[in-house]
Amino acid sequence: MEQIETVVVGAGLAGLCAARDLLDAGRQVVLLEARDRVGGRTYSVPFEAAGLTVDLGAEWVDPDQHQAMMHELARYGIDVEDTTSQTPLEPLSPGTEAGSWDSIVRICDRIGTQLNPSQPNWYEGLDQFDLPVTAFLASHALDINHLPTFLAHGFALQGAHPDEYSMLNLFHEFAAFGGVEAAFNGAESRIAGGAQSLSIAIAKKLGPALRLNYPVTRIAKTGEGVIVEGPAGQLLAGQVIVALPLNALSHLSLDMPLPTEAAQVIAEGHVGRAAKGWAVATLSEPIESVGWPHAVEVYSRRGARSEVVCTFAVAEPDHDAALADSWRVLATRHRHAVVHEEQLSHDWIADPYARGSWLSSAPGQVRGLHELADMSPPVLFAGGDFSRGWYGWMEGAVTSGRDVATRLLAYASDDSAPPATG
Ligand SMILES: Cc1cc2nc3c(=O)[nH]c(=O)nc-3n(C[C@H](O)[C@H](O)[C@H](O)COP(=O)(O)OP(=O)(O)OC[C@H]3O[C@@H](n4cnc5c(N)ncnc54)[C@H](O)[C@@H]3O)c2cc1C
Repeated sequence: MEQIETVVVGAGLAGLCAARDLLDAGRQVVLLEARDRVGGRTYSVPFEAAGLTVDLGAEWVDPDQHQAMMHELARYGIDVEDTTSQTPLEPLSPGTEAGSWDSIVRICDRIGTQLNPSQPNWYEGLDQFDLPVTAFLASHALDINHLPTFLAHGFALQGAHPDEYSMLNLFHEFAAFGGVEAAFNGAESRIAGGAQSLSIAIAKKLGPALRLNYPVTRIAKTGEGVIVEGPAGQLLAGQVIVALPLNALSHLSLDMPLPTEAAQVIAEGHVGRAAKGWAVATLSEPIESVGWPHAVEVYSRRGARSEVVCTFAVAEPDHDAALADSWRVLATRHRHAVVHEEQLSHDWIADPYARGSWLSSAPGQVRGLHELADMSPPVLFAGGDFSRGWYGWMEGAVTSGRDVATRLLAYASDDSAPPATG
């Protein structure tokens, strides 16, 4: 059996950053990727009919907040395009009565300031907020007129149904962005050439360490080392970094002891299930809006041949049906917009190497997620789904991937790995 010092599984941003940093530190590394491409949930494809490249997965970076991403983009000479909206989607009007938008924002800001997202146990003492978003809003009697706006903005951050994802996720986002308004109306930028361009740039430096078309089906801890295997072969590794989406893990055979809550969160999976689609459109002016429950987030771009519109929806009853409903609602909301037949999207929920969109945890899952991220060698877990500061974001994939490499190097030098901080 081929023996390798460190095997990294999954060539998304997390696995790519981890593999690169370990190679730079002189380690022997192999990076195994199931698909025939790198980038995972960053996936930028040409939309020929419109004459531009669109992101079917991750798209937005916040240059003020996402410092690890900005550092990586600068390192590879990739620009960002400022696409900040000139009009905040929900102006925060004064209002003091219970249930008004303003009072909910103040409550959320107050709770958000109690939470430090970069602390290892940031969730401690916040159990009472670990409940579905709709239950939290009902207990605070948010005015019915504001409910759709809150749910739409929440969905834009969490990509999950508000009956399913925990309010703790939103408090974490509010704290990370520095407040509700910043999180809901954050200044965001698009990555020139598409978000996948960063993954492609990192992969170019990895040479033969990267092995594509190598789906892993089993990772087993043994007395001799860790066996990593799949239809393409079998390796014996000193250490393994598992940089896979949380929802892909229950489809692997993981033959190793796992902490109880970590095993439970793997079995359950997270509840992120967003559908994102692009369509060629004829517009008289650019459009941008939010709504609920269809066409939750909408924006337009201009390509060389035509304009395009993008929309998001909860993927229910399934991805295609959710997008079909959203195109219909979009055309009603923006009367001047004509949405054409040429459409492009990727079903991340049906995708066997993602099985969900970006991380959104259900009540009771956050401890298990962090238990997984804190595991010690020889098998370590990393990724955007396991980040402490920016889970569910590319930023979190980069910080988690870089942190796991640092922890592994610390372990190699003094036999103990510090807890995860990425
Ligand atoms: C529709 C959508 C929109 C998003 N929008 C944004 C956004 O605007 N901004 C933002 O910052 N983030 C966004 N995200 C989230 C962001 O994409 C992720 O947080 C980040 O890319 C995760 O990186 P990762 O390396 O942890 O995981 P991934 O990118 O999922 O990489 C994991 C890799 O593992 C591979 N793999 C899976 N199973 C196996 C196996 N068995 N064997 C070998 N390899 C395997 C996969 O093919 C993949 O390449 C979005 C995600 C989606 C789906």
